[in-house]
Amino acid sequence: MSEIEPSRSLTVVMSGPSGVGKDTVIEALLRSGAGVRRYVTATTRPPRAGEIPGRDYHFVSEGEFDRLIAGDSLIEWAHVHSHRYGTPRRGVFPEPEPGADILLKIDVQGGVNVKRQMPETVMIFLAPPSWAVLEERLKGRHTESEESLRLRLRNARREMAQVVHYTYCVVNDVVEKAAARVQAILRAEKCRIRDANALLAAYGIADEPSR
Ligand code: ADP
Ligand code: 5GP
Repeated sequence: MSEIEPSRSLTVVMSGPSGVGKDTVIEALLRSGAGVRRYVTATTRPPRAGEIPGRDYHFVSEGEFDRLIAGDSLIEWAHVHSHRYGTPRRGVFPEPEPGADILLKIDVQGGVNVKRQMPETVMIFLAPPSWAVLEERLKGRHTESEESLRLRLRNARREMAQVVHYTYCVVNDVVEKAAARVQAILRAEKCRIRDANALLAAYGIADEPSR
């Protein structure tokens, strides 16, 4: 690999209201071989049917979550929909494949917090094609009680308002299209000029007098 090739790995935050399709789009991205890896976060929420510990979340008890906070083992954590969720620091839990771009599926409070600590983080907001579609998707998933559904829909309005903190908005109309848009963003981010002097030095023209 040449020094000039844009090879940096990215930290990407994806947020969006519950039911918009974050998990579905992330699954499509993982399948597409985009070289993205989902960073597994911790939660006190019980697993849903089909969810696998260590793949979908590190499912922990309230006591374990307290210990993660006390040990400064979380980059950020937040109360979301009446459970606690947090992003573990690297190495707190075993990580299967280092090296790839890292995708964090976290809520807007967490996203803003991570961006503050790591300003290079790529901020992507996944939005529904319409409010009616969001409701349909959340109901159609059949994973929430009536009460949890109402809570998630109430929170969704507040979450949408936080789009101001994000750089990109991807509308999840068709899963594959949304995943392709995310891939395009990642490709563009890798081409961004962050340090022009280092770039020119790689061509051996760092000290040109005309600059
Ligand atoms: P989130 O992770 O944002 O809470 P999910 O990925 O669980 O959302 O998606 C919620 C529901 O919407 C699921 O039943 C999923 O199959 C469906 N869904 C997601 N994206 C689309 C889409 N583009 N078109 C139709 N249905 C979708
Ligand atoms: P769910 O219960 O539907 O998997 O996730 C609920 C919400 O919690 C989603 O908005 C998801 O992005 C958010 N979430 C998941 N992990 C984290 C985390 O580590 N930190 C924060 N702040 N939010 C998270």
